Amino acid sequence: MSESDSWYIERFELSGSAIGFRVNRKLHEEQSTFQKIEIYETTDWGNLMALDGCIMLTGRDNFLYHEMMSHPVLFTHSNPKRVVVIGGGDCGTLREVLRHREVESAVQVEIDERVTRVSEQFFPELCESNDDPRAQLLFDDGIAYMRNAAAESIDVVIVDSTDPVGPAEGLFNESFYQSCLRALRPGGILVQQSESPLAQVSLIRQMRQLMRQVGFSAVRTLPFPQPAYPTGWWSCTMARKGADLSGFRERGAHSKPFPTRYYSADIHRAALVLPEFVREALGD
Ligand code: SAM
Repeated sequence: MSESDSWYIERFELSGSAIGFRVNRKLHEEQSTFQKIEIYETTDWGNLMALDGCIMLTGRDNFLYHEMMSHPVLFTHSNPKRVVVIGGGDCGTLREVLRHREVESAVQVEIDERVTRVSEQFFPELCESNDDPRAQLLFDDGIAYMRNAAAESIDVVIVDSTDPVGPAEGLFNESFYQSCLRALRPGGILVQQSESPLAQVSLIRQMRQLMRQVGFSAVRTLPFPQPAYPTGWWSCTMARKGADLSGFRERGAHSKPFPTRYYSADIHRAALVLPEFVREALGD
């Protein structure tokens, strides 16, 4: 690393590790009502968004996360018509959800409108589906939204939030999971970003325990690579109401009518197999 280079470094106190991206310049910075929003132009990874110093996405590797937060759950549900995304302000997950023709309504509930406005400016490719007539962008607290949602009104809830601190902390507790269970139709599925299996397997275990405790009948954790996040290895956890999570619509996934760069039916099937240390830690 030459002295003249400048780098954006994120330190992960929890895992005693860090990650850095070489940057050309800072493109934007503001303090919203909820968090500090920074955008950098990197030399090799496209633009980078950080919220309160935590890297949210880079232009180069966000497809891994957005595809794995949307396609496994939507190909697991038998007919996902009404989808709610909690968080997801960069709009990358919403874009993937809307690739599914079965989806009739996709509501995104992001607490901080500034994240979406900044993403529209610096990640326009992630916001290309925001004008889809099926999409509705709400700027509100996802906790309150799910608490007030009509019973048995939603097929899939995707929680694409920041880490369980600050405004996102209440998205990882029993009462939020109770709200989700009530709002989901029978067979409905909650999927939530569940952090790093390498550094936070105890959090994943706690999330799964709470999901089962409130009455979800099945839980499943799917790891996937995500270089820009702590340890470079991330996960999503699904919880289903009144049905199991043993399979998915393989034919539909194989013959999907839209392009992906990471997700496939084979990747989906592989992601259902946990590494031994994770399987043991989760009692899977
Ligand atoms: N992929 C990222 C990750 O795994 O950390 C998340 C991306 S997205 C930018 C995270 C969003 O969650 C942020 O825009 C943040 O404002 C939003 N958020 C946090 N707490 C929320 C809440 N209670 N309701 C709605 N959105 C929330």
